[in-house]
Amino acid sequence: MPKMQTDKVISSQSISQCPVCNSKDSVNDFCIDQFIIHQCSECDCKYVINPPSKKELESYYNREQWFNGGEPGGYRDYDEQTVGSLKMIKDIFDDIDSDRHLSILDLGCGYGSHLQLAADRDWQCFGVEPSDHARAIAQLRLEGKAMIVKSINELIPHCFDLILMLDVIEHVSNPEELLYPLYNIGAIQEKTKLILTTPNSGSRLAISDPVNWPYHHPPSHLTYYNEKSLNKLLKKLRFSKIIIKGIYANQAMNEDPSSLEDFEGLEVQASGSNFIRFMQERYVPSTCSEIAEYEHMPRYQYALSLAPNKTILDFGCGTGYGSSILAARARAVVGVDIDESALEWARETHRKPTLNFRINSDFGASLPSQYFDLVTCFEMIEHVTADHQQLIIDSFVKVLKPDGVLLISTPNPDITALYGDNPYHLCELTRDEFEALLRSKFKFVNIIDQHALASILFASGNSGQAWQLDTLRNTKLTESSTLGYLALCSQQEIGAMKSSVYVDNDAPYIPLILDLRKNLLEAKVKAYEFEQTLIQLRSTEQGHFSREQEVLSKEQKILRREQELVGKEQELLNMDQRLLSKEQDLLNMDQGLLSKEQELLSKEQELLSKEQELLSKEQELLNRDQGLLSKEQGLLYREQALQRHPVSRISNAVKRNIAWFSSSPKQT
Ligand SMILES: [Zn+2]
Repeated sequence: MPKMQTDKVISSQSISQCPVCNSKDSVNDFCIDQFIIHQCSECDCKYVINPPSKKELESYYNREQWFNGGEPGGYRDYDEQTVGSLKMIKDIFDDIDSDRHLSILDLGCGYGSHLQLAADRDWQCFGVEPSDHARAIAQLRLEGKAMIVKSINELIPHCFDLILMLDVIEHVSNPEELLYPLYNIGAIQEKTKLILTTPNSGSRLAISDPVNWPYHHPPSHLTYYNEKSLNKLLKKLRFSKIIIKGIYANQAMNEDPSSLEDFEGLEVQASGSNFIRFMQERYVPSTCSEIAEYEHMPRYQYALSLAPNKTILDFGCGTGYGSSILAARARAVVGVDIDESALEWARETHRKPTLNFRINSDFGASLPSQYFDLVTCFEMIEHVTADHQQLIIDSFVKVLKPDGVLLISTPNPDITALYGDNPYHLCELTRDEFEALLRSKFKFVNIIDQHALASILFASGNSGQAWQLDTLRNTKLTESSTLGYLALCSQQEIGAMKSSVYVDNDAPYIPLILDLRKNLLEAKVKAYEFEQTLIQLRSTEQGHFSREQEVLSKEQKILRREQELVGKEQELLNMDQRLLSKEQDLLNMDQGLLSKEQELLSKEQELLSKEQELLSKEQELLNRDQGLLSKEQGLLYREQALQRHPVSRISNAVKRNIAWFSSSPKQT
């Protein structure tokens, strides 16, 4: 947390009640330089009672030196001094990281270092940084990955998943200045998680030596919170889940920190706020638009002239701001409403001894008879049905003293139609219907119209003088500028209602209109440029599309060819199949032939072996013939030998044998 030092005093406004709980009771006042600091006795919030004006603060933070000059009250080196928070933010991001691209708003985003962490995660990034110098650096560093603007009003209406307010809230004198504009653009809803850090004014050091505690540092720090006051603030804004923990443990401590008092800073994580619904149902001053303020506030200002020393019933008091205005002059004011949560807000926010808030749900029937001098009932009867409107007017007749008066208003249906559907308006009334309803119960009814018009004043200082009323053009006031109707009713004669003018001193018309026009023109130029880019993109897209179409048709052609090829392949495959089966047939036939050949072969074998057998028998016979032949040869030799030798000795018988042998046929 950067250390602040006191700069020169630039004080101009006075705040005398607690910015958190509105209590005026203070304990332990102390003074730092010329600044008086009150501590609220109820919620412990400490606040500077004479803070600088908004304009002074704007120029105070808009100087470059505040971020890098090392001057008293500012940063020496913004990047170096905020590096400690990067780890903390990274851990927080890790905890809530989801598959979804979250949207984040960093309020007081400085140089954009936290947004850079979010942009690295592809989150939708938004930043608000009032300093021109810091904003320019953040825009440069984030290179268009974040929408970074000067004020909350320049943001687009958007519900954020995460809102960072790191060391910011202590720089404003009223936290509602920061938070209400966020609700106005729908930035905080039930799903939104708010991460807030601030110095801990409940730390041991801050309590024991408040004057020298480094963060009690006006005028840059104007409000100082502890656990109790932060809880109070966030509960008021209807956050349902609030976790507060200590950061920056006191380094002088020897032991581990055991309670929040041991920390110099606080970190809050809060979610579940349904305040947006609360402020949409009923008017909460400073929320919504100036138009809402111009509608609601002047009626009570008008009623104030009737209030001195009166006992007043403010029927349908809502958040009680009007009852509170009346209570400033009345003897007693009872604010009545059907909604307990609105009354709780009223009791908390508006505390006056003459002011009471009570619940009533029987349209006023149970309220005391002839008790009130004045009944006010503004923008309420259109919220009930026609039957209930009758009951309510009956109740007013009953509770008013005989000389009492009713001041009642209802909006012009032609104007409410411009705002779109309003589910809370059950029975709107035209001027005639409104008058008829009142005249049915009151003898005297006087109606004036409430207009919202631009005006020119010739005035000297802050004058409360009676105005001379002239018009620029010779035209009459018309229904088109009539916000609504205000009626004064009584059973006794009442004078004509006086005309009144209410001037908004805080809304300088010319700068406002010029600023609006400038913004509108810039928005128009941006819209035009965007449209042109869109047209270009569309034509490029068209080109891409027709090229894609071409590619597609070519692809289809290829596909058709491929299909043809596949068909032919199938045909070939079928032919192959047929050939294969014929081959099989042939093979089978071959097989048959082969087996027959085998058969023949074996028969041939058989024949062959038989031939062999015959051959061997022939051989045998041949051998035998050979034997006989060689015997014959032998015999022949002997015969020849005998012939050479005396053959006489050879008997005639042998001669005969030889003769027989030679002549007889061979036997086989
Ligand atoms: Zn307080």
